[in-house]
Amino acid sequence: MRIKAQVAMVMHLDKCIGCHTCSVTCKNTWTNRPGTEYMWFNNVETRPGPGYPKRWEDTDRYKGGWELNNGKLKLRAGGPISKLANIFYNPNMAEMEDFYEPWTYDYDHLIHSPKSDHLPVARPKSQVTGKYMDKPEWGSNWDDDLAGGSEIVPLDPNVEKMQEHIKMEYEKTFMMYLPRICEHCLNPSCVASCPSGALYKRDEDGIVLVDHDACRGWRFCQNGCPYHKVYYNWNTHKAEKCNFCYPRTEAGLPTICSETCVGRIRYIGVVLYDADKVKEAASVEDPQDLYEAQLSCFLDPFDPKVQSEAREAGINDAWLEAAKESPVYKMAMKWKIALPLHPEYRTMPMVWYVPPLSPIMNHITNEDELNTDGYIPAVDQMRIPVEYLASILAADDKEVVRKVLLKLSAMRVYMRGKTVGGVDEFKQS
Ligand code: SF4
Ligand code: SF4
Repeated sequence: MRIKAQVAMVMHLDKCIGCHTCSVTCKNTWTNRPGTEYMWFNNVETRPGPGYPKRWEDTDRYKGGWELNNGKLKLRAGGPISKLANIFYNPNMAEMEDFYEPWTYDYDHLIHSPKSDHLPVARPKSQVTGKYMDKPEWGSNWDDDLAGGSEIVPLDPNVEKMQEHIKMEYEKTFMMYLPRICEHCLNPSCVASCPSGALYKRDEDGIVLVDHDACRGWRFCQNGCPYHKVYYNWNTHKAEKCNFCYPRTEAGLPTICSETCVGRIRYIGVVLYDADKVKEAASVEDPQDLYEAQLSCFLDPFDPKVQSEAREAGINDAWLEAAKESPVYKMAMKWKIALPLHPEYRTMPMVWYVPPLSPIMNHITNEDELNTDGYIPAVDQMRIPVEYLASILAADDKEVVRKVLLKLSAMRVYMRGKTVGGVDEFKQS
């Protein structure tokens, strides 16, 4: 056993209000310099939707992460694996239009325009070319709150038919927010894909960083990361990424996104894991076994044997105490209400998510629609389909998501009964 400590995060998606405060405070702290305009170490996506960069989950196009090849774990072919052959040509990389051309507004034009019939407006100006734009065409959360809705209804010359279609499709529409940072993976493919060895995983806390002295700007990390959380600074020609606010965490402070989160959705904690198990866990055949495989790497911080071996491995008492108190350990490993994002990428991500509970679509009219507790609604009737949540949080394993939603529903009913009363009345009605 090789015990290591890792800082990690759980985000409780039910509490995210999509305000983007986290993105803005992160940007003001880390990416407010020339060359970083388009970078959002933290971004918040309206889902379902293309995300940022555009359609980042399309692994056929971007080729990120790991795949099993003859039983061996390999970087996905066509991307970083051919790094030496492709050293001057990296065809799978996201381009400017997949992120967006950053622009600013020319407020001077608004204030100093000569008198005319119409009110002047602030004009968008490209921060790349310095020229005025007709209109910006894409941004990091361009489809804010539309949930991909603009794409689901095809135009039809028969207006009545189209209206009917819109009614049917929009009745099925759902949305949720997905805030994203670098996952500080246990098995990071960005590190494996860097020809210069510039990306590294810090031994003491597992934070994944870029050594700018070593970075040569090859950009293989950019599409080596299936989550698209490494960026290229066009001004310094170096890779940049979320650093889990290490100057803050080293001083005992939370990350800036956590501290300023309006919904208080972010929980930071330390977890202990067995580094010897990671490669084996990432190599299990069936993607639906990856969640359990990743769980099997984590260690119980209350186990005296784990504690003594952790001390021998140089993990100090303060970290061991933090591991015992860790909300990440509780939510992800003990209560099992948080799930990893896209476990099928096999990078063993360390930002996990509590899936959102959503409103029930139908009125509960008969006993069959109630589960055995009599008053916990069937999770399959929730507005956000279990299939969708399973596609992003459980490699399509609906049972894993169902179990989590049932636990959350039970807890909601219990807490409502305890705090506002009325559970018994609800049961009787
Ligand atoms: Fe590397 Fe972060 Fe991407 Fe994981 S999510 S592969 S640690 S950049
Ligand atoms: Fe969601 Fe918190 Fe970010 Fe607001 S600040 S968008 S609530 S994660």
